[in-house]
Amino acid sequence: MDVPLRSSAGVPSSRLEEILDGSDRIEELSDTDNEYEDMGTATPEEQANIEYLDSVRIPIRDSLKTETLKVQDETHEIILPYLEGNPNDFTLNAYGIPKLQRERHAHFLKKVIGDYPPQAAMMDASRPWIVYWGLQSMTALGIDIHPYQKLVAHTFSLAQHPTGGYGGGYGQLPHLACTYATILSLAMVAGTATYESVDRKTMWHFLGRMKQADGGFTMCEGGEEDIRGAFCAMVIVSLLNLPLDLSQDAPARKAGLTTFTDGLGDWVSQCQSWDGGISAAPGNEAHGAYAFCGLGCLSILGPPKETLPKYLNLPLLTHWLSSRQCSPEGGYNGRTNKLVDGCYSHWVGGCWSLVEAATSIPPSTQLWNRTALSRYILAACQEKKGGLKDKPGKHSDAYHTCYNLAGLSAAQYKYVYDESVNKDIGSANLGAPYHWKTACGYEGENVIWDSEDTVRGIHPVFIIPYRSVYECRRYFETKEDF
Ligand SMILES: [Zn+2]
Repeated sequence: MDVPLRSSAGVPSSRLEEILDGSDRIEELSDTDNEYEDMGTATPEEQANIEYLDSVRIPIRDSLKTETLKVQDETHEIILPYLEGNPNDFTLNAYGIPKLQRERHAHFLKKVIGDYPPQAAMMDASRPWIVYWGLQSMTALGIDIHPYQKLVAHTFSLAQHPTGGYGGGYGQLPHLACTYATILSLAMVAGTATYESVDRKTMWHFLGRMKQADGGFTMCEGGEEDIRGAFCAMVIVSLLNLPLDLSQDAPARKAGLTTFTDGLGDWVSQCQSWDGGISAAPGNEAHGAYAFCGLGCLSILGPPKETLPKYLNLPLLTHWLSSRQCSPEGGYNGRTNKLVDGCYSHWVGGCWSLVEAATSIPPSTQLWNRTALSRYILAACQEKKGGLKDKPGKHSDAYHTCYNLAGLSAAQYKYVYDESVNKDIGSANLGAPYHWKTACGYEGENVIWDSEDTVRGIHPVFIIPYRSVYECRRYFETKEDF
């Protein structure tokens, strides 16, 4: 039976008016009010996609009409044409799914790492993030980032604060988020001069000032204490192989704490919410990105098999994570009753490697649908002009490019924690995360990507290439103290 093809154009909604400016609407939308336009009948690929979507659609529907459901319906109308057909006219792979548009994304990323016009000055404080997202996206696509080595090292040498840590740029106050993105960027471009540009001693003091009496970390002096701080601090202490002891002038010493890790596991534990997810701080609403930060922090504190069950209710967390995958879209949302968004391909999709390393879930158990996630990323999140995005109707940006590609990597590989990996490093000071490897590419049923659509493997805790992680730690293990 021929299936009518859903038009990509006839999807006007208040939601779209909200998310697109006028010029984009002219480009993306027709002015018809019909849900379906006569686009002819579906091609065999489109017919297969439509049958697939029917097979994963949840058959029951809440009869209660709410604003949330209305927005959900409108969002489906925007997204489904991209999952059923190919409105962007991308070349298709052997499975009838848009191929990974490497050339378009490479072109986009070159601009991300390039020069910016004066009006971009408002983004100055985000500079380390833009560099990190751009470089990580490039490495995921297999683009050589070596040509950026000197430029990146120079850029960040100016952003290092005399009292330790990094700000967004020269003269800006240090902040843990900027420092995290900086250290990951420096680890990626690597090299002795790059590593040596980091002042580890002032960094140690800076992180000591962030440590709080209750075990957590603030993002900056006098700033908010949340789970990003806990994760970012552990990433930096571990990659730079900093001493775990707090400096004598660290304020948390007054409360009897002596190390960076004192009380930290218990503090993360308090961030697990009633529904099983993990929130920014105790008592807040659970959120996908904070779930990844919490799991990442615990996976640095020790082997996931020990730390995750010790500090978290894993069955409840698994239920919450599993409930984030949207049907029939296939991508993840970040919170209960929220909309699918490509960045959670990583923030939630990336949690699974860490959870699976902590449990004995048999490989045959389908707690998440890797191929559905990949469909969403390849079919709905690739921008025709390059880069990846939240969902159709939104613009691509460096952030969503980075985390869509990281999510694609999580779906395409099996990342495994193995104590026998790198036995020569990580024997002390937060050394657990140096024993990960890629076991194999995912080869389950219904794989929908070709080898050309496969991104590079990514370290599941640090979200930079394995090699960058291991080389950086290996270098700093040669340093005793400062
Ligand atoms: Zn997003």
